[in-house]
Amino acid sequence: MSRSFTYQALVLKTHNSGESNRDAWFLTAEEGLIRATVFGGPKSKLRAHVSPFNRGTLWIYHDPIRDSRKVSDFDVASWRPGLRELYERTMAADAMADTILASHGGGGNWEEALSLADSGLNALESADEALCVRVFIHFLWNWANILGLRPEMDRCGSCGETSASTAGPDGLLWYDQHEGNFLCSSCTEGGGLNGLLPLNPGGRRWLAAVGDLDPAQLGRYSLDAVSLGQVRAVLTAIMAGILGKYLNTWHW
Ligand SMILES: [Zn+2]
Repeated sequence: MSRSFTYQALVLKTHNSGESNRDAWFLTAEEGLIRATVFGGPKSKLRAHVSPFNRGTLWIYHDPIRDSRKVSDFDVASWRPGLRELYERTMAADAMADTILASHGGGGNWEEALSLADSGLNALESADEALCVRVFIHFLWNWANILGLRPEMDRCGSCGETSASTAGPDGLLWYDQHEGNFLCSSCTEGGGLNGLLPLNPGGRRWLAAVGDLDPAQLGRYSLDAVSLGQVRAVLTAIMAGILGKYLNTWHW
């Protein structure tokens, strides 16, 4: 018995398989990550529709005997042509897709995961180079939250002091890559211990301000170059700690 299913889906990645077929990975609101085969040569309409970052309604035919899935149709609602118009937009979109794939689609909060990926990609569509980086690190921060593994920033992970009683809400924090948490300055001997990444007040305020923001609003929250570099280093370290590795696509 074969069965047909319908999904709200985002194409994350495609890969040629065989002479004229293509494997595609989707993030769906209903079942998280799905891999399916697109049949048809380079001129097939379906193949053109199933391209990275397109979003729409997906019809899948599942053969339970072989446990194989085939794309029977994909009705694209959002093409996002802007993503291909600027190198940094494509790089940031690839980095987001890779992160989603490496973390198995968001661990159960699929509807929320799809919504976060969608809003990030929409924001990238018109972003300039600098904004692309901010959209990406904002995505990492919120993706860690979806996975339930965003480290607490308001309390030292070692002594438990709230930031207000140590260096104040604007104080310097350190991200401890071994323990996966934030530490106050007194618990790190002023940052002298190994495996620490600094997060300065500018970066810290930015993360607190943009936490639950729609990425479309990120253009209004600028970040100086030093703070941006620190936030990016800390956020990729947080995600690397979660995934157990750094992804090559995070650096461009
Ligand atoms: Zn402390």
